[in-house]
Amino acid sequence: MRVSVKAAAKINLMLDIIERLPNGYHSLWMVMQSVSLYDTVAIERTGTGKIVLSCSDSRLPADETNLAFKAARAFFEATGIVNDGVAISIEKHIPFAAGLAGGSADAAATLIGLDHAYGAGLRLRALHKIGLTLGADVPFCLQGGTMLAQHIGELLTPVPELPDCFIVLAKPTQGVSTAEAYRLCDSASNLRAPDKRGMLDALLAEDLSGAARLVGNVFEQVIDVPERISIKAAMREYGALGCCMSGSGPTVFGLFELEEQALACAESLRSIVPEVFVCRPVEEGCVITP
Ligand code: ATP
Repeated sequence: MRVSVKAAAKINLMLDIIERLPNGYHSLWMVMQSVSLYDTVAIERTGTGKIVLSCSDSRLPADETNLAFKAARAFFEATGIVNDGVAISIEKHIPFAAGLAGGSADAAATLIGLDHAYGAGLRLRALHKIGLTLGADVPFCLQGGTMLAQHIGELLTPVPELPDCFIVLAKPTQGVSTAEAYRLCDSASNLRAPDKRGMLDALLAEDLSGAARLVGNVFEQVIDVPERISIKAAMREYGALGCCMSGSGPTVFGLFELEEQALACAESLRSIVPEVFVCRPVEEGCVITP
């Protein structure tokens, strides 16, 4: 039996750091949004007693360091279900190390796929608990939609969905280190906080322009990605209602009301950065496909 799960990427419509916690983690305030850019994770029981993994992108590890592999291990450990062997194959479309939670999405899809393949029938809460041992974004990726994510990102509260729109994602080539980004925020003084109440008010009012105008991410104040300036300029030129970096970057997203604006913007951005996608907000993080 083969179970195929679509795993959605996420963007951060808003990201603020509230404080540094005593354990070194950071308390966050984020509005997360699933978008229609998917990896596909296929799970097959093999009867070999082993976990084997393959990935369509050879730049990613296909061994026990892959987050999907770790998710499978964590699933069997947490449930006590005997691993009679699984093959995990990942078809990668979400750019990695991009601020789009691609690895967390694969881990979440693996947990859902294994739950289905073994007929475990775990509750979402139990999957969250296993997911959180793998990464703070995994609980969101299991659930998806539009969520306020607090504490380290695992405390999820549904908020009104972002009104339908077209989202352009552009990933600059420059890599950023998430650890370094947090370090820079810790040592920075006078970081300007995004308008959190305004964002919730705009979502409650189903006001796309209002929400788009307020998108904000404190990491933008400490992480310099030179291409970001030209990407944002192009997005505004093509009519973006708002644009911002996602997570610790470097991907920049722009929100558009009209598809033709988004498509034209994406076309133009392809001459600046190699990885550009047009997608839409979606209501689920992981979807089992027939
Ligand atoms: P976030 O938004 O949660 O910070 P990200 O988009 O910055 O995530 P990921 O795509 O999750 O980052 O990848 C981070 C690192 O994790 C990569 O550099 C990669 O080596 C490693 N990794 C392990 N497994 C995977 C996977 N299945 N997909 C992507 N990256 C993976």
